[in-house]
Amino acid sequence: MSKDNRWTTYDAKQLEDLHALAEDYKKFLTIAKTEREAVTEVTKRIEKAGYRNLETIVKNGETLKAGDKVYAVWMKKTMAIFTIGEEKLEKGIRILGAHIDSPRLDLKQVPLYEDTEMAFLDTHYYGGVKKYQWTTIPLAIHGVIAKKDGSVTEVRIGEDAEDPIFCVTDLLIHLSKDQMAKKLGEAIEGENLDLLIGSRPMVFGEESKDADKKDPVKQQVLSILKEKYDIEEDDFLSAELEVVPAGAARDLGFDRSMIGSYGHDDRVCAFTSLDAFLRVDSPRYTACCLLTDKEEIGSVGATGAQSRFFENTVAELLACCGQFSELALRRTLASSRMLSSDVSAAFDPLYAAAYEKRNSAYFGHGIVYNKYTGARGKSGSNDANAEYFAWVRRVMDDAGVAFQTAELGRVDVGGGGTIAYISALYGMNVVDAGVAVLNMHAPMEVVSKSDVYEARNAYVAFLKAEQ
Ligand code: MN
Ligand code: MN
Repeated sequence: MSKDNRWTTYDAKQLEDLHALAEDYKKFLTIAKTEREAVTEVTKRIEKAGYRNLETIVKNGETLKAGDKVYAVWMKKTMAIFTIGEEKLEKGIRILGAHIDSPRLDLKQVPLYEDTEMAFLDTHYYGGVKKYQWTTIPLAIHGVIAKKDGSVTEVRIGEDAEDPIFCVTDLLIHLSKDQMAKKLGEAIEGENLDLLIGSRPMVFGEESKDADKKDPVKQQVLSILKEKYDIEEDDFLSAELEVVPAGAARDLGFDRSMIGSYGHDDRVCAFTSLDAFLRVDSPRYTACCLLTDKEEIGSVGATGAQSRFFENTVAELLACCGQFSELALRRTLASSRMLSSDVSAAFDPLYAAAYEKRNSAYFGHGIVYNKYTGARGKSGSNDANAEYFAWVRRVMDDAGVAFQTAELGRVDVGGGGTIAYISALYGMNVVDAGVAVLNMHAPMEVVSKSDVYEARNAYVAFLKAEQ
């Protein structure tokens, strides 16, 4: 593990690189706040770099060869990007796999209601959140509304300086005697995480009947939605609207050594994986950047890591390279090597009791490897093979990349998971590797710019490494 704080080791050129990467990362965070927005932004970046949609290649019956650049997207929420290597695919793919969903509040299907002349949107939280953290902060609404006519309207409101914002209310301290006596986890109820969106009633004409004047604040909101987005109340039924913290990613600290933002978990690893991937032009082994959805709720569904999307895409790839057989597919997956690029808990001295110091991750000490995650006796974890991690150590040391190893907190204080165990089902070697994050899953998470830089360099070394 790296003993020196990496900040003390950089020369001027490295600092310049580090800052350029951090600036680009802040832009990425600010643009890509949902899995769909991440897919859109990544697609823009890779198309600029010459990557082509695999669908087009399959449709045209083209053949792929070493050096070719392709990608596949599923349901606009997950994607896999490949640079074809010199070796046959059977020799294995080098995979950097990160997730692009983050904890947030999702609107319910029937969200809109009025109570006491105030209009709200009802939500159901997504992923693990400390509910009290989501009250009384500026919130934005991002997502899509799909209409019966097949059109899809994109929504992004609360980000521009002129946009309105929204918030979840909390009881004033003056009246909170009972609430303050409750346990932290019970003081804010999930059902109360509703978004305040309006308070001005519609003014009705003289001809309006009394029956039509019900819920005038809600009606006013609906008339604005009709005008701005051409949607009706029923269109919420087929929408995916995500409530996320409003505002841009910012430098944090007088020394600007950190970045404060929503969504570092796991866009910090998605971004650095992509950046590394795009720096490796003609790899020996086929390189892959896999960006998955639904990790925060168990990697379920058609766009989560448990779906067949990745396997199907590799099958298509083999076919396009003229190498497909069922056996070749299995061999390709089994012989692949993966860094499950996901964040780790950064040591927080204010809550030191939750960590075990020798096996914790520290800001400024490089990419973090978690041999295993899980909870209560490693349950649910992918426990990476010792021989594989020995190879990873060698790759990191040979490339001069700083790394550290950690567990997610003290034994039995909690736990967590990643997508590592899912890819491992194919028999491939996988280990968790990512950036240390403070305040993980909070509306504002914090990372060290140095760790972002080291993670990117570690991912490059992994993709380039010989057997
Ligand atoms: Mn994660
Ligand atoms: Mn997470």
